[in-house]
This record gives sequence, C-alpha cells and structure tokens, in this order.
Amino acid sequence: MELMAESTRYSIGVDLGGTNLRAAAITADGRELGKIGGFTNLKEGRDAVIEDMVRAIRSLRDQFGGEALAGVGVAVPGFIDIKKGLVVGSNNLPQFEGFPVRDDISARLGKPVILENDANAAAMGEKWLGAGRDVNDLVLLTLGTGIGGGIIMDGRILHGMVGMAGEFGHMTVFPDGNPCGCGNDGCLEKHASATAISAMARLLQLGENLSARKVFEIATGDGENAEKARHIFTSMGRALGIALANLINVFNAPLYLLSGGPLPAWELFAPAMLGEVERRSFTFRNARTRIEPAVLGNEAGLYGAACLPFLGPPEPAPAFF
Ligand SMILES: [Zn+2]
Repeated sequence: MELMAESTRYSIGVDLGGTNLRAAAITADGRELGKIGGFTNLKEGRDAVIEDMVRAIRSLRDQFGGEALAGVGVAVPGFIDIKKGLVVGSNNLPQFEGFPVRDDISARLGKPVILENDANAAAMGEKWLGAGRDVNDLVLLTLGTGIGGGIIMDGRILHGMVGMAGEFGHMTVFPDGNPCGCGNDGCLEKHASATAISAMARLLQLGENLSARKVFEIATGDGENAEKARHIFTSMGRALGIALANLINVFNAPLYLLSGGPLPAWELFAPAMLGEVERRSFTFRNARTRIEPAVLGNEAGLYGAACLPFLGPPEPAPAFF
C-alpha cells in the first residue's frame, strides 16, 4: 500500500448487512485506501455487532489518520429515520429497531456519523463511482428477495417525508396480480424480484426453490423446459417495464439502473421490458433516457455509505430558523 499524506481527506463507509459487515476507507476523489470485511455476528447480539463495526472503523482510522477522516457513513437494510439517525424497522436486523445507531457510534468515535438505508446508499454509490458518474439524477432498482432502490436528484438522495421514498417493490404493476405481504395485490416485487422468478418457476413446475440464476440456466439451455423458463423472464420484463415507464414519466431522469441476482438474464427480460417502456412512456420516446445494468454490484452500498460524509448533513436546517 502506498504511503499517503496525513492531509488527504477520506471517509469511512460501513455496509451493515444481515450477513456481512464491511467497511472501506475512500478518499474524497473516490480512491479506495483500504477495506475490511467480516460476518455480521447477530447471534452475539446487537452490542457485539456495534462493537465489531466500531473496531473496523477504528482500524481504518488508525491506518489512515484521524485528522483526515471527514466522517463515517453507515448503510443498513431497513427503514431509517434520517433525522433521528435510527433504524425504525428492519427484517434483516430486528435487534437494531429503535436503536440510535448514528449517535451511539458517533459518541464512541468522536466523529460525525450518517446513517442511511442500504438501497439509497447503493444509488448514491452508483452516482459517485459507478454507472451514474456522468449524471446528477438517477433511479436505481435493486432486484433481490424483494425490490428496493434509491432515487438521486440533483446529486442528493431523495428521502421523502420519513425516508420511505424509493420503495419501488410495492408499486402496483398488475391491478389484480399476486397478493403481497404489504396488503396490496400486483406489487412489482411479486412479479419481477428474484423471489418472484423462483415462485413462477415453481408454478410452471420447473422445480422447487430454483434460484433466478438456475432458471436463467434452464432458459438458455436446450432442455424441454427452456421455453417455459424464457416465458418467466418475459413476464418479469413486462412487470419491470411497466414500473419503469411510470418512473420515467414521473422523474424524467436520464438514467435508470438495475442491479441484483436476475441481472445476468438481461438479454432475456430486456426486450419485454423495453417494449413496455416504449409503449407506455411518452417521456421515454421523447427524451434520451438510458436503462442500464448497475456496475458496482455489492460495492455500491459500501461506496455510497462512504460518499455520505462528503455530501454533508442529509437535511440542512433552513437558514431562517
Ligand atoms: Zn407490496
């Protein structure tokens, strides 16, 4: 590793997932100085996970200098109360619900900490160092167990009133579609997530618990089920296209990014997706709009978290108060 001047400003991003805990030190101009990865030790309880997080941050800080550290950004899966810096709800990290993650870590480190939802952080990561480097506005959809994402407008994360903006998974794409746990029918994530692909494969009797990757392999193979499997991706593409057409009509962003497990099947779902977008979005037909795969993969949330301290506080108080 090269030696660096103490004055090189950098930040530390932490990606706290349900499975993995990772931290990275990144300079203001986007150079990765160092990275630490490990498991999220949830069995030992919340305090142990916080302790692991603080240890990783301290280790990077000791390596690259406390003076030059601009701050710490922490990305977590779940709903975040941005103003209070706490996790309001999280399926992956239930022990963190209601806990003031931001202030607790900040007090231990003596540095400002910014807490952010992981999908929002991923969108910011793509904007800072990924596929969205050349734009100021983008929308990222993450296709996983569910569908989430983030909206970047004017180079900042769009949070909405309580930080719930960007819940793309629960957009209605088929009014009488599959029932969803959120109470609605026909949610995007019931028709286009990795879980939905697996569910469709089961319905079509391709097999139980097939991953999106496996369904993709069947679709591109020469077996008897190839056509059925291809149909799954067409159906998924239609659902995605309907959702994207709505998003394009609403945001008029120049770039829409997709990430997640089903992405290798791009060639299979993209034609149906783009067909729906073309048909349903006047904006798409009239403004140069790109729909592309995201490029940072698992690093997006980590990089986005590291970007946050350089952006300053998420909601600056109005000057006239
Ligand atoms: Zn839903």
